[in-house]
Amino acid sequence: MSAVPLRNNKAALAVRSVTVLGATGSIGDSTMDLLRASKDRYRIEALTAHTNVKALADLAREFGARYVAVADPGRLQELKDALAGTRTECGAGESAVVEAAARPAEWVMAAVSGAAGLKPALAAVDRGATVALANKECLVCAGDFFMQRAAQAGACILPADSEHNALFQALASGNREELVRVIITASGGPFRTWSSADIEQATLAQALKHPNWSMGQKITIDSASMMNKGLEVIEAACLFGLTAEEIDVLVHPQSIIHGMVEFSDRSVVAQLGAPDMRTPIAHCLGWPDRIIGPAAKLDLAKIGQLTFEAPDFSRFPGLKLAYEALRTGRGATTVYNAANEVAVAAFIAGKIRFGAIARLVEATLEAWISAGNLAPLASADDAIAVDYNARNKAATLLPQIALKAS
Ligand code: NDP
Ligand code: MG
Repeated sequence: MSAVPLRNNKAALAVRSVTVLGATGSIGDSTMDLLRASKDRYRIEALTAHTNVKALADLAREFGARYVAVADPGRLQELKDALAGTRTECGAGESAVVEAAARPAEWVMAAVSGAAGLKPALAAVDRGATVALANKECLVCAGDFFMQRAAQAGACILPADSEHNALFQALASGNREELVRVIITASGGPFRTWSSADIEQATLAQALKHPNWSMGQKITIDSASMMNKGLEVIEAACLFGLTAEEIDVLVHPQSIIHGMVEFSDRSVVAQLGAPDMRTPIAHCLGWPDRIIGPAAKLDLAKIGQLTFEAPDFSRFPGLKLAYEALRTGRGATTVYNAANEVAVAAFIAGKIRFGAIARLVEATLEAWISAGNLAPLASADDAIAVDYNARNKAATLLPQIALKAS
């Protein structure tokens, strides 16, 4: 018998109740894939989507979900029809998605896209659930408030974003006082080697061609602008209580090392894996144990080389703006996220050029600060109000940004 102590595997054997918010998206799909592989170990409490009734109803049938919700209030009848003959309850509208999160699942995947995920994520947090957090925008929108509320409620937040999951794993090697900095890696996206002039004119199809990761549309565009890395810098600050100075970004085109932590003795602890979101999600699903992940085995000899570059803040100004918003605080990160969501939607709709995404975020932040609107966020309602007002501000600035060439 091995002298190495074996873990108590009682938790692993118990059936776990699970809810997936954003079940029909890319992260939702990866999560359902993992749940599908061990169906006898999980019971699905609730699943949600925005408009995709067909995919949601198919999942509900396959997994025998107790409750499903679509955020689009106009799709209730369609959802009821799609669930005919099942025992699955259903609802529609924003409040129905919040209800899904509030139902008693032990483990919740928060994978709604955008700040729309904030209220449902808070509903899961408030009842002290274990929340695997993929939805970075909700953290960036709520700032420190989200983590404070989680601590008050006794909720457990497990970082599902690959870089933050890597940091979460590496941070176990030391304590807060011993930490010098964290490093989150970035693939650099499809425009890593492009000139500013070419990035300015990039098309939607070009922005959607991510070299390494297969993801939802919004995050793929954010990766091309490196706004995603900006959001992730803020996400890391909120999750782990770090300052802007303690977070570095390193461009690593192969996306094999996801995050690193440097400690006071100059040891740097890294987490590696193939670029497959099922690995960090599996870590969150199994935590504190490890489950079997379906991703390809990492073959470093085959990959051959891991390369690194410093990020270029002038070609990717959105990343620089994230650091500025983080240092500014008092709602600036909420504005950063809200303006970016408006800008990405405008780019998808063909209203602005790719290069104008960062310009709209910058203009919205400047207008917000010069109007004297910065104020500490004391509640989720404060964050939601700032998010709403910043979206309106960004929308009013949009026409002049659309006209202005770089
Ligand atoms: P997708 O666009 O693929 O999926 C988003 C999911 O959220 C879908 O289920 C969608 O429903 C639902 N949804 C969208 N808008 C709303 C809304 N207003 N209210 C309620 N539900 C809504 O996104 P991803 O899976 O790529 O990303 C989800 C989150 O995870 C994002 O915050 C992203 O930044 C983060 N993330 C994603 C990674 C990835 O690899 N994809 C990696 C790391 C983080 P419907 O299908 O009906 O539209
Ligand atoms: Mg990430």
